[in-house]
Amino acid sequence: MPRRPRKTTLLLMSVLPALIFTAGWDRAAAQTQASSATREADTGGGTASAIRARIAPPHDETVAAYRQSGAVDASAHPLTDQEWTLVEGAIAELPPLHRDVLERHLARLSFIDAPSSAGTALTRASEGPDGGALFDITIRADVLDKSLGEFLTEKESMLFADDGSGHSVRLSAGRAPALTYLLLHEATHVVDRTFGISTEMRPFSALWVDYRDLAAPYATGPMGVTTYRRGQRIPLAESPELYEALRASPFVSLYSTASAGEDLAELAAWSHLSRSNVPLTVEVRDATGRAVVTVEPLRSPAVQARFAVADAVLARASAQPSQTP
Ligand SMILES: [Zn+2]
Repeated sequence: MPRRPRKTTLLLMSVLPALIFTAGWDRAAAQTQASSATREADTGGGTASAIRARIAPPHDETVAAYRQSGAVDASAHPLTDQEWTLVEGAIAELPPLHRDVLERHLARLSFIDAPSSAGTALTRASEGPDGGALFDITIRADVLDKSLGEFLTEKESMLFADDGSGHSVRLSAGRAPALTYLLLHEATHVVDRTFGISTEMRPFSALWVDYRDLAAPYATGPMGVTTYRRGQRIPLAESPELYEALRASPFVSLYSTASAGEDLAELAAWSHLSRSNVPLTVEVRDATGRAVVTVEPLRSPAVQARFAVADAVLARASAQPSQTP
């Protein structure tokens, strides 16, 4: 993994290690804002308009990062009218805190055609002209027409190797679109980086030894060795044990175990979705089709307790002056 640069980092939401490289602030972002700012319809107040006006093609270095991660065909995705409607809906769904921070710190929101990329979304940080932190959020365009359940089922399938056991894992999230969740998750990274929350380890000290290392007993259990933890794929026959471990833990998702930052992004995203009555069910079935494990993380008292802590931490951090990552 490259040395961490001083000014710019990329967080690729992926089973791969985060991509990191240096880059400078690019004035093209401001210029492209002007062309997309002509869209008039407003779905979520002034801040929603401000965020929508940042929709622009991805930075050259973002496209290069996707290509370097293996998506050699990566290119900017122009939104169709139908996709604009979806994106506007997802922006309108953001909590006020997330919208306020994006209005102040989002350089651009971009969509990329990179179907062969393992990473779904990427947040790129850079230093703005006044020295403050700016962020680009780039989302893979093929998720635009996916449901959240379909997206999560595909993502989670990357944890497993087909062993012929006939086991299957399916996640469902009602009628929620994948984009709403992805924008919430990525926007939480921007909030986190702006206020330096997860790097200070609060409220994670009971579960995290440091930013990337899980505390006992999770470090050595089934959740500690998945591909989200840079481990190997596990046979599907072991999936019941893995989701039993999730059910017994205070994590809202397996992806939460990737790092303290992903833990916070997952908590904030699912806390908000839960308040919007989006359900989340993980079902593991055996070869006969019988459900052998069912997990409903949003109903877990341990998870709900962490939602409350994460929400309080975000609210408290946002009341403080911003830190520059
Ligand atoms: Zn993430």
